[in-house]
Amino acid sequence: MSAKIISGTEIASQIREEIKEEVKQLKEKHGLIPGLVTIIVGKNPASVSYVTAKQKTAKELGFYSVQEDMPEDVSEETLLSLIEKYNKDPKIHGILVQLPLPKHINETKVLYAVDPDKDVDGFHPVNVGRLMIGEARFYPCTPYGIQQLLVRSGVQIDGAEVVVVGRSNIVGKPIGMMLVQKAKGANATVTMCHTGTKNLTFHTKRADILIVAAGRPKAITADMVKEGVVVIDVGVNRIGMTPEGKAKLCGDVDFDGIKEKAAAITPVPGGVGPMTITMLMLNTVKAVKLAHG
Ligand code: NAP
Repeated sequence: MSAKIISGTEIASQIREEIKEEVKQLKEKHGLIPGLVTIIVGKNPASVSYVTAKQKTAKELGFYSVQEDMPEDVSEETLLSLIEKYNKDPKIHGILVQLPLPKHINETKVLYAVDPDKDVDGFHPVNVGRLMIGEARFYPCTPYGIQQLLVRSGVQIDGAEVVVVGRSNIVGKPIGMMLVQKAKGANATVTMCHTGTKNLTFHTKRADILIVAAGRPKAITADMVKEGVVVIDVGVNRIGMTPEGKAKLCGDVDFDGIKEKAAAITPVPGGVGPMTITMLMLNTVKAVKLAHG
């Protein structure tokens, strides 16, 4: 068997078309334009490329978008007052502070300063708590993208054995919490694995849906999964350069080996990656609707 490839590129592009239509309706019927500010501190190349991509997508979708470039040595106080300015700005519905921040800035303090109603990254504890109790306002973007990949590919989540490898606050924990909810696109039995897990293969072999966010190239191999599994590979690992001078990427699963056993699998690149930015845009549209009833 060779697995169906779940294309994040294609699904993200469908969702972007839906967002464009929604933005058009918001403008025509209510005179509203979704506003997104991205704040970056310093010039970390990965962060610059993520923020540039977010700004580009926001513009393509017809958003009002603002980019704030702060110098590496900006004070915590200045950054907090910038956030406060956008918390009060009615034209801005979503605030994104690109992580990581330099060491002299308290990341937690900064994330907590964002108004939870404008927290389109879904990292504020109010939104984390809401997700936990099944009353989410904003799902964190990567887990939201993973759930949409599963739902829009027609994967049966209800009643499935879902195994998540990784328990980070941005991927592993929230996706586990989302899929365990008694709700549509969820209602799964969830197991969460990490470096303290005694027998990883015992768990991964039971999975109907295996979500891997470990940040370890090819940590999951074909002998660790059962026939017919659906695999979502969140990992993005740089493993060298292509002859054209671009970063060579691989995921956390051995794609070539596992695709012969799996029913469906996401590629890297072109799987979860393209979904993350798209879900940020969807959250911003949701923020407009929440702000204006
Ligand atoms: P992270 O904070 O480093 O967390 C990794 C998690 O995996 C930890 O919980 C760790 O366990 C667990 N782990 C690591 N090696 C393991 C192993 N051999 N067996 C079992 N568990 C293991 O990583 P993250 O931020 O969640 O990101 C994970 C990967 O996804 C990275 O490659 C990242 O680049 C990628 N990512 C992609 C996107 C996207 O949009 N495509 C977004 C976010 C992240 P402990 O807790 O015990 O240390």
